[in-house]
Amino acid sequence: MGTLYIVATPIGHLRDITLRALEILKSVDLIAAEDTRHSKRLLDFYGIHTPCIAYHEHNEVRQAKALLKDLKLEGKNIALISDAGTPLMSDPGYILVREAKQLNMRVVPIPGPCAAIAALCASGVSTHKFVFEGFLSPRAHQRQKELRALTLEPRTLVFYESCHRILNSLKDMVTIFGAHRQAALIRELTKIHETIVLDTLEKLLEKTEHEEEAQKGEFVVVVEGCHSRQTKAEEGKRIVRILLEQVSLKDAVMLASQITGVKKNHLYSYALHCQSEQLFVDGP
Ligand code: SAM
Repeated sequence: MGTLYIVATPIGHLRDITLRALEILKSVDLIAAEDTRHSKRLLDFYGIHTPCIAYHEHNEVRQAKALLKDLKLEGKNIALISDAGTPLMSDPGYILVREAKQLNMRVVPIPGPCAAIAALCASGVSTHKFVFEGFLSPRAHQRQKELRALTLEPRTLVFYESCHRILNSLKDMVTIFGAHRQAALIRELTKIHETIVLDTLEKLLEKTEHEEEAQKGEFVVVVEGCHSRQTKAEEGKRIVRILLEQVSLKDAVMLASQITGVKKNHLYSYALHCQSEQLFVDGP
């Protein structure tokens, strides 16, 4: 049986590739690439002429079968790469790796760049414990629901985001995590316009809204987890949202304040906001 190599490639700067990755890409029989035209640039840069086939989310199931056959019956060694960074990290590959493992095949990771890790370690937000959330839903309602479920998460949160949705996602984060939560907005890592800004969510949104340039490129958002000081306030807000479905705004604020000890005036403006934005519908 051949070996399946999971090879990390650059997330921007072409020189961010390991010597081992280059050796493997040169020596395998086949490279399965997310977009063969995109990867050609990298392979040409390093003079790699290994045959390439496409393996992406639209042909993943069919192509996995063909690749497993090549590995098993033909004994071919295959390298899986994605357009950027580490395959399977918000990229295709899981079906192939799972099937290969079930067939007792050798799967070897060739570690290297990953936008989440690069962003996190330069973010200034705690790296002690973190949760990789990948992409939020593109649908506003679902995205808000996903964020609400993370309100009390104490670990650092890492999100991927595209230029099309960065503003809406930041707006939702301000509303749901609170304007003062610390976060880092990381853009275009390892590229010419690399930017890493640590500030409150509110300030990050403000800057991004006002600068068109700041809305371009690829993003990672790293958000501080919910700390005990915030937990009480977040719990107060969560209870307000639930109660708003059942009782008047005044009663929701009074009860939430009695339960959590958070001052009524802190909860009142939030309750008004929830009511105008219909934020109470789904609860947490
Ligand atoms: N597999 C990749 C990895 O290991 O990071 C991620 C692939 S995912 C389809 C693409 C997303 O990763 C982008 O939308 C962005 O959120 C993030 N990303 C990739 N390259 C980036 C970069 N150079 N700077 C900032 N974010 C990046």
